[in-house]
Amino acid sequence: MSQVIVTIDNIEVKVRPGTTILAAAKEAGIDIPTLCNHRALSPTGACRVCVVEVEGQRTLQAACVFPVAEGMKIKTDSDRVVKARKLVLDMIFAERNHFCPFCEASGDCELQNLGYRYGIDHWAYETYLKPYPIDATRQFFLMDHNRCILCGRCIRACDELVGNHTLGLRQRGTRSMVGADTDTPFGESTCISCGTCLQVCPTGAIFDGRSSYMGREVQTEHIKSTCSQCSIGCGIEIATRGGNVLRVKGDWDAEVNKGLLCKKGRFEKLHDGRKRVEVPLLRQGGGLQAVSWDQALKATAERVKESDAEGVGVLTSSNATNEALYMLSALTREMKVTNIGLLNGVSPGLSGIRRGALADIAKGDVILAVGADPVRNQPVASFLIKRAVDKGARLIVVDDADNDLSCLATMKFGVPDVGRAVDVAARAENTVVIYGERVPSSAVGTLETLRQRAVFIALEPGVNTQAAVAFGLKNGFKSSAVKTLFVLFGEEQWDGMDVKLGEIGEDAFVTVVSSYISPLTDRADVVLPMAIWSERSGTLTNVEGRVQKVRAAVYPEGEAKPDWEIISLLAGMLGKKFDESPDKISDRAIEALKGGGIHRE
Ligand code: SF4
Ligand code: SF4
Ligand code: SF4
Repeated sequence: MSQVIVTIDNIEVKVRPGTTILAAAKEAGIDIPTLCNHRALSPTGACRVCVVEVEGQRTLQAACVFPVAEGMKIKTDSDRVVKARKLVLDMIFAERNHFCPFCEASGDCELQNLGYRYGIDHWAYETYLKPYPIDATRQFFLMDHNRCILCGRCIRACDELVGNHTLGLRQRGTRSMVGADTDTPFGESTCISCGTCLQVCPTGAIFDGRSSYMGREVQTEHIKSTCSQCSIGCGIEIATRGGNVLRVKGDWDAEVNKGLLCKKGRFEKLHDGRKRVEVPLLRQGGGLQAVSWDQALKATAERVKESDAEGVGVLTSSNATNEALYMLSALTREMKVTNIGLLNGVSPGLSGIRRGALADIAKGDVILAVGADPVRNQPVASFLIKRAVDKGARLIVVDDADNDLSCLATMKFGVPDVGRAVDVAARAENTVVIYGERVPSSAVGTLETLRQRAVFIALEPGVNTQAAVAFGLKNGFKSSAVKTLFVLFGEEQWDGMDVKLGEIGEDAFVTVVSSYISPLTDRADVVLPMAIWSERSGTLTNVEGRVQKVRAAVYPEGEAKPDWEIISLLAGMLGKKFDESPDKISDRAIEALKGGGIHRE
């Protein structure tokens, strides 16, 4: 039987057998309230708020776990159901401190909303007022056990979505509390501060420290965008109020991450304490002075025009948008500049391979990770790997460096033994090869022998590396030859950058496009202020070749401009105008990526 017919509140609905009453009701347009249930988590039927009457059943049933059957008749709003829901809510409100006016989540709380919906306007039972602890040991968000309703969403999120298994329930009865590891303060536990538990918590029990009391959901604007902190390109929702970014959430509808974010994507970028470059700067009289955009761009353009093409060097961060990289590539071609380099490393090119998507990780029975450490560098990819391992996939790690995936691995090899790892992977039915910049050229041929049997995902160390390489912006940069240097530095951290200031001659003229002050901007002759992730629009290409939109949520700080606009203005000064609109430039960049076999629909 491919479909069953059930009647919910006198509405007939056809659904697949095994569908829960909750899902069937949703298809019929009927809203059954829930608390412990969440679209991204397995249902548990713990809170009993979703109880319904099923004809022929002696007791009320939890709609989130009860499957429908042919001819079933269900009432979701009968007096009996409403009475039971009110009882459940009365007990939850009485269990802990739910004095809503003093709670960070007031106005955004699912429990409070249900209180209004069912007319809970007083405490039906004596409240249990013994204070529970508040754990503020994590840097970015706090846990207030007084607001916890023990719904278990956070525990399931940590287990099922992140694969981190930090959380559990400890003690019993009124002493029950969500705990980390074996009763460890959260900040000292195995928690990796991804904030997934924060995002699923229905009450004010887990809350963000930075944006507390600064704006309810209805008071904020929400802009869907793409995280530009690593090459995974997770879908995000940026919440703003009064022109300020309050917080960032994972987008449950995003194909890439389905709501998940990591610590750097959710929190760290909002806590960046570096000093911004706010206005264009030009070295005059021995120091950097604030000047107009025209003056700064003219100084750079004049110097470029005076130089031979061989004396001009270009260094690019792969954090830049497709549009900026495409325009910079076109400009360097026109100027016949060939000394071009990327600031970030690049995974080696493997030929004849099938490029996989992140969703393929879940299908692998062997995951072979070579020279890549997603736990540190592309954390959401590591969540997918942990989930696959939880479901029985074998993880083989090949790396000479310390690798945070090793603790999950069935086997670990050094790079000289990559052949042994490949032999094991070759015997599996579905192998997913994840590789990074630490794959040496000696291992490339060995990995390529898996081309018929595996899908490959290159975890590039830079955000938009695939586009930068496709546009020819990695050409073997030689700093010693440079007399005029243009660096599209963007938001890069200075530490660990492959820019050797010592190798650039003291007389070289250096222009830096940067969002933040760093030793590089201190050395520069011209500094052009660049908009950061929340202030720019354009597109980025992720590790799968997916081209995704980034959208400005707030205005740029000071006189900063988006990367593509800066390149466009400079091109204009050099007499090489890009006449098309930004959208047209986007289309051109995407066409070029398609031509290079990079773009995935
Ligand atoms: S922040 Fe992430 S790792 Fe830490 S407890 Fe929450 S879900 Fe688990
Ligand atoms: S902390 Fe939040 S998500 Fe976790 S059990 Fe308590 S109320 Fe539920
Ligand atoms: S994995 Fe990368 S793209 Fe995703 S949230 Fe973290 S930093 Fe952002």
